[in-house]
Amino acid sequence: MASFLDFAEIAQALSQTHSRLQIAQTVGDFLAVLDPAETESCARFLIGRSLAQGETAKLNVSGRAVWRTAAEIVGGEDSGEEIFASAVDFGEAIEMLMRLRREQPAPTLTIAGVAQVFGEIAAIEGRSARKRKLDALRDLLAQATALEAKYLAKILIGEMRHGMSEGVMIDALARMAKLTAAEVRRMHMLEGDLGRVAATLRGVRPAKSAGAAAIRPLKPMLAQPAQDVAEAFAIVGREFALEHKLDGARVQIHRVAGETRIFSRRLNEITPSLPEVVEAMERLGDRSAILDGEVIAVNDEGRPLAFQELMRRFRRVREIDRLRAEQPIRLYVFDLIGLDGRLLIDQTYQSRTEALAELAASAGLEMPKRLVTTSLAEAEQFFADAIAAGHEGVMAKALESRYTPGARGRGWLKIKRVQTLDLVIVAADWGYGRRHGWLSNYHLAAREEHSGKLHEVGKTFKGLTDDQFREMTERLLALKTGEHAGTVEVRPEVVVEVAYSDIQRSPQYESAMALRFARIVRVREDKAPGEADTIEAMAREFERQTLKPRSRTDNL
Ligand code: AMP
Repeated sequence: MASFLDFAEIAQALSQTHSRLQIAQTVGDFLAVLDPAETESCARFLIGRSLAQGETAKLNVSGRAVWRTAAEIVGGEDSGEEIFASAVDFGEAIEMLMRLRREQPAPTLTIAGVAQVFGEIAAIEGRSARKRKLDALRDLLAQATALEAKYLAKILIGEMRHGMSEGVMIDALARMAKLTAAEVRRMHMLEGDLGRVAATLRGVRPAKSAGAAAIRPLKPMLAQPAQDVAEAFAIVGREFALEHKLDGARVQIHRVAGETRIFSRRLNEITPSLPEVVEAMERLGDRSAILDGEVIAVNDEGRPLAFQELMRRFRRVREIDRLRAEQPIRLYVFDLIGLDGRLLIDQTYQSRTEALAELAASAGLEMPKRLVTTSLAEAEQFFADAIAAGHEGVMAKALESRYTPGARGRGWLKIKRVQTLDLVIVAADWGYGRRHGWLSNYHLAAREEHSGKLHEVGKTFKGLTDDQFREMTERLLALKTGEHAGTVEVRPEVVVEVAYSDIQRSPQYESAMALRFARIVRVREDKAPGEADTIEAMAREFERQTLKPRSRTDNL
């Protein structure tokens, strides 16, 4: 069995390598000689995941808890500020802190052992769960050397900073298994977790075939933004389908052998929160299906309500009946991923939609309004109708496109009323005057596609209500990693949707771009930082904006 120190040393070496190819080679070779049973956890750890993607149980260990626990082991938190100021990241701060221990333990941890403890911590629930989780964390950290503690901390907060994105891991696994990256990517689409892919490739798990019904959730297919309907025509081609874009939350519903399970966009199971959806699925009887759809909050007249109203339902696991009466929801299904035990991801949008329409009609399920057209005038009218009906915009879908789990292709384009980007909050300034005592000016960052590195692209203090400022302050303080000159740095965990007027050149930021008139539209509880918009997408947007005069700034 491999020691956890081996893992830490490999990770350390990666942080000094800049070439994507070399990183993939080093990792592929390391994984190839590892005990097959350990490849699953090791692959996951290397991309900063403690557990499998889609796992319902969570560790619920914050960075603050890791810091406090390490400080307790060392015996004193006094040097905290100093350490944070000189460390490059949270993991290094933990390493520096742990080096202050009088006696360093000999390395005894193994990769499998660490994976087991993570599983145990996640499984702790019920009375005094928090305390028991922290006790288990303390036991683990106490056995770790300073370098091991650095990497335990990095995995726990999901921030490796060694250039190992999911894309690079796919290349590494391809090298390990002597397959092409495309073959591994396809397995990833089906498995939804790179750890499971690694284990399957090493023969520890059976492969999932595209012919079999998925029991695990698949990553949802993603959409790429388009400026307007005319641009969508230009990208997709002459004919496409337009659908109302509903402003709610994505759901993936698995109905297998009379049982229903519902997963969120982030593949968390949310079945207990949505009894209405479970009831609707009963109407499918014995048929099995995997449906993709959106749940929206509606008022008494059935008109869509703001996304925030819906989030109240999603976070709840108790008092469902009361909330159900208070806040009605409505399910719309827009894709059919599997039917009667077969995955349909290789069929065209057109044929999936035909099958869906039949199934939906037989079970009384609603689909979003839809139009297939070649006429720009008709398409623009459809967009205007969608907005008038209270929706967010439209989706344009290529008739021939396949369902590509987890991928943002040209098959689906989203056209929204206002120009927005989903960005990550990386720091916040303390407010003054009326905002005294709140973290109220947020530093926003976009993600670099391959490395996952975050680049600041703007700041905003607009868009939140006083209550939301208060809530956000609390939330960010729990993610604090350092502070100087009135600015609190935080772990990048909160994703916000930001509306803006345009993108301008800016010498102030490394990215050389900044958003003008940025304003937070909402907090994207459903998005992880890894799903935030990329700096590359922003650069494309910038280019587009400079090529063509903007006509939609009045929509802000
Ligand atoms: P965004 O979340 O802004 O990246 O836009 C894509 C999201 O729009 C999807 O993940 C769905 O949750 C949502 N959506 C709403 N209506 C539709 C639709 N008709 N087809 C596909 N996605 C939709």
